[in-house]
Amino acid sequence: MDWRIGVIGTGAIGKEHIDRITNKLSGGKITALTDVNPENAKSAASLCGARIEHSDKDVINAPDVDGILVASWGSAHASSVLAAIGAGKPVFCEKPLATTAGDCKKIVDAEMNRGKKLVQVGFMRRYDRGYLQVKEILDGGKIGKPLMLHCTHRNMSVGENYTTDMAVTDTAIHEIDCLHWLINEQYVSAQVLFPRATKYCHPKLRDPQFMILTTESGITIDIEVFVNCQFGYDIECEVCCEDGVVKMPEPAFPTLRYKAARSVAMETDWKCRFADAYDVEIQDWINAAKEGKVKGPTAWDGYLAAVTADALVKAQGSGRVEPITTGPCPDFYK
Ligand code: NAP
Repeated sequence: MDWRIGVIGTGAIGKEHIDRITNKLSGGKITALTDVNPENAKSAASLCGARIEHSDKDVINAPDVDGILVASWGSAHASSVLAAIGAGKPVFCEKPLATTAGDCKKIVDAEMNRGKKLVQVGFMRRYDRGYLQVKEILDGGKIGKPLMLHCTHRNMSVGENYTTDMAVTDTAIHEIDCLHWLINEQYVSAQVLFPRATKYCHPKLRDPQFMILTTESGITIDIEVFVNCQFGYDIECEVCCEDGVVKMPEPAFPTLRYKAARSVAMETDWKCRFADAYDVEIQDWINAAKEGKVKGPTAWDGYLAAVTADALVKAQGSGRVEPITTGPCPDFYK
């Protein structure tokens, strides 16, 4: 029997998840949805034939909803996730788990008090084939211990409402989660440098930014975030180890020989670059939740990401190296 899902938030990514659950994946069915924007709710309902509910609590408490998918604005996530935990229903929450570390901690505490893992956070890069290949090599140990990571996160352009802090909270947040999972270590400090600004900067944005994270054992990670790079959507990750270097493969495109030039196309947005990862992520959530498990990024991962993001945003303002203090991972999440 299909596992019955209620969706809260049916904008861009909410509709994409509804489409993949309805038309591509197996074992799940959307039975109810809600959105504060009635047009979005209506068009989403027409994609999957689900009933429109008045509020997130109506979706969460509906008897024909087994699990919840939250894809509303970040600031609305915490109250929906806490209500889903209260109802004892598995919940997939798009990143961020909550917009403050304090709210993430409340979710962690609520889940531990309930005594059962229910929350998965939408950090889909852990499901990307390229990152998984890099992780397999690192975990295999044949190139030794990681020493340095060099990463880039480049977007073609962003709108005027994208501000300096969003380079951390909206953009580098994916690296923040994925990289600590890749190397199995926690971060201890954060720093941000501002190179010469591009002429494509907006008044409220400093772009590009160079972020530096260090880990417990001293691994140094640099992340270039450049959100007006103009030429494409470019995600790179190279890990330099004691006995070798592993670089994440780039998406494959044909090499074109044309008019005395040899060229290879590249991705232009995240939806295409990580399309497969989203499919695997949501299928994995459905399969695990049906067995009463959470196999993907947990509420604790959401909390770690929020604390690290706070330190990076603080470092943007202070210009200093800021400490990252999360405390030990509770046994519940190990
Ligand atoms: P979006 O297009 O603005 O959609 C959000 C929708 O939620 C809108 O329809 C919005 O209404 C509605 N909404 C806001 N508060 C709500 C509430 N309390 N209850 C129900 N609906 C509510 O945004 P999006 O791009 O889909 O992003 C949604 C979330 O997914 C964000 O947290 C974002 O960071 C995350 N996201 C993750 C990824 C990823 O790679 N994992 C990619 C994209 C987005 P209005 O139209 O009235 O604003």
